[in-house]
Amino acid sequence: MKAALVGDDGALLHRARRATGRERGPEAVLAGILDFAADLHAYGVEHYGEPAGAAGIAVPGIVDETTGTAVYAANLGWRDVPLRALLTDRLGVPVALGHDVRTGGLAEGRIGAGRGADRFLFVPLGTGIAGAIGIDGRVEAGAHGFAGEIGHIVVRPGGTPCPCGQRGCLERYASASAVSEAWAAACGDPGADAADCAEAVASGDPNAVRVWQEAVDALADGLVTGLTLLDPRTLIIGGGLAEAGEVLFQPLREAVRHRVTFQKLPAIVPAALGDTAGCLGAGLLAQDLLTATSTTPEVST
Ligand SMILES: [Zn+2]
Repeated sequence: MKAALVGDDGALLHRARRATGRERGPEAVLAGILDFAADLHAYGVEHYGEPAGAAGIAVPGIVDETTGTAVYAANLGWRDVPLRALLTDRLGVPVALGHDVRTGGLAEGRIGAGRGADRFLFVPLGTGIAGAIGIDGRVEAGAHGFAGEIGHIVVRPGGTPCPCGQRGCLERYASASAVSEAWAAACGDPGADAADCAEAVASGDPNAVRVWQEAVDALADGLVTGLTLLDPRTLIIGGGLAEAGEVLFQPLREAVRHRVTFQKLPAIVPAALGDTAGCLGAGLLAQDLLTATSTTPEVST
């Protein structure tokens, strides 16, 4: 768990980390979050002389931002946790609840790589692939909290099975995990990962170039579907795979350019905020609750 106190100007004033401790069960995780937030709140009072004006919290899984409910989180064992109400009771300040990727996307869009873009698509390539659809300073959640799940667009019909139940989903080909698996199999080293593959690509290893290009092609197929639907001005690529830098971005821009016909090519840029995006985004959610009414610092978890 990462948490921060965020100033009125958006600056990170104080950062903290704690283990989620999910091996202790869903109830203990919840109690740990509430304690962490309360401690941070107290730290704010102690060090800045006034309480935080609001709090923002971002969690994985299915999130209903309207009711403030963590509907389902497989990793945490949560079902229908009224997180916003619980945290509001504990802290005594207004609380906003967001989805982790959408919240990170909100930060990338407003103050990170998409700064100034009225329409953006944020796609982190990590263990899986998720997405955040940015529209005029907010991120679209969809009617049921599922908007942006670009990782489960089928790019290879009948292909590799995905835990979601489909076959051939984008994240089975272009997530950092998928590239790690493909490269480990191709090079014969079970410990080799996506970063090793990127390194081998940079040094011109034809085997690595083939594995990498397959991932890039799948990614471009998925992204072109996304940009055909959404027409974003900026396409922000983040997560572990994006750390390959131009080894990824050069062939990716080329592959997307090659596929578009009538669509306008968006700027394809690396994410800028790294693993602080979630905290900064939670801070923005909190700040939105206070818009133009307060100058106090905010707490975000
Ligand atoms: Zn899937």
